Amino acid sequence: MQLNDSLENFDPVATAQKGTYWQPFTSSRVLQANPVPRTLVSAKGAYYQTLDGHKVFDTLSGLWCTPLGHAHPLIGEAIQKQFEKLDFSPSFQLTHSGALSLAQRIADMAPEGMNHVFFTNSGSEAVDTALKVVLGYHRIKGAANRFRMIGRERGYHGVGFGGMSVGGILSNRKMFAAGMMPGVDHLRHTYDPVHMAFTRGQPTWGADRVEDLERLVALHDASTIAAVIVEPVQGSTGVIVPPLGYLKRLREICTKHGILLIFDEVITGFGRMGAPFASQRFDVKPDIITFAKAITNGIVPMGGVIVTDEIYKTFMTGPQSAIEFCHGYTYSGHPLAAAVGHVVLDIMESEGLFERVKELEPVLEDAAHSLKGIPHIADIRNIGLTAAVELKPAEEGVGVRGATVFEEALKQGLLLRVTGDIISFGPPFISTEEELKSMMVTLRKVISEV
Ligand code: PLP
Repeated sequence: MQLNDSLENFDPVATAQKGTYWQPFTSSRVLQANPVPRTLVSAKGAYYQTLDGHKVFDTLSGLWCTPLGHAHPLIGEAIQKQFEKLDFSPSFQLTHSGALSLAQRIADMAPEGMNHVFFTNSGSEAVDTALKVVLGYHRIKGAANRFRMIGRERGYHGVGFGGMSVGGILSNRKMFAAGMMPGVDHLRHTYDPVHMAFTRGQPTWGADRVEDLERLVALHDASTIAAVIVEPVQGSTGVIVPPLGYLKRLREICTKHGILLIFDEVITGFGRMGAPFASQRFDVKPDIITFAKAITNGIVPMGGVIVTDEIYKTFMTGPQSAIEFCHGYTYSGHPLAAAVGHVVLDIMESEGLFERVKELEPVLEDAAHSLKGIPHIADIRNIGLTAAVELKPAEEGVGVRGATVFEEALKQGLLLRVTGDIISFGPPFISTEEELKSMMVTLRKVISEV
């Protein structure tokens, strides 16, 4: 079996078994159980083609990042055109019109008063950049003692040292505990199976969990706390939807104590909640928004940080120094990424895709909740164009049922994202109603059979 015809004598099975390619977030058990690596060979629209010939529906838009589907011809054209015009522009003290105009466009979509965009290449870099902005801001303000960052249990903020430290997923942290950023604490997560199971949209229970921030303020003293970072909807740990009122109250407590609020919108940014940002959907304005993924439809890596006028102004009028914010990446505002960002926003606008998400939200909600009653299901939840179906762990242990469902679903035409026993959904915005319904019909069949 050849993955790439031009590589004669290339044996994907042997190569995978040797571990030559060290696959991200992939357990060696998966490799042992699948001597032929799980390999995708092509993609078009909302579907992938696997190496063994299955056409599978992309239920998570890649990794929450391809809302326009795959192989969109306008994106290909934009890349080719930009390549011919300007394929690289050093980010160091130089720029180009694509980055300038994309920053403007993103600022125009952001909540009012958030008019400054710093580009990165990924969500992890965006989070680490945001944390550095926070430290710099407080230092310029004469409050260098504000160094503590507050994350939240079950939060995912990427894999940089900063993002990992504020993140709240134990398995991502355990091995690296010795190198964790100092001065980080965590709010309790908001999930509660007893009060929330099978809730459609935002739970009415649980907003008071936000008062946990007052506990941390009392413990550490507000004068040491720099920022709170949360995903408005926790994506990677299985679509944990904020209780009604939680985010508003979080804003109030942060403001009261002079703590900056970061919304990590790497998943929720650019339409997934039916608005440009979740901040608008929940009507809560943070001080900093991080984004990535959908801005380039996952095709060329790009991320970024949006900050308020107040934060930007503070940096730019701070004490004299050569460079106000000594930070940046070789590929910040990369011309190809900026060109793709523009065409992605063009398509989202011309096809009315934020509105489309709003139309599809109740379709996905009904389809997902129609699985209620299947004995193996512990919970179903949803918001925007996201949903999660949580399975009851099998007797053999956590994740066993999830893994079996993943394998069986693949054979039946669904590429699922399964974390432990939680199946998360973030289908492309271009999905049809029929596709969303049939996705859940197939899942029902798979879960009932395993
Ligand atoms: N923040 C959030 C909320 C994410 O969901 C992710 C990735 O899934 C990241 C940060 C990290 O992004 P990346 O994988 O692009 O570094």
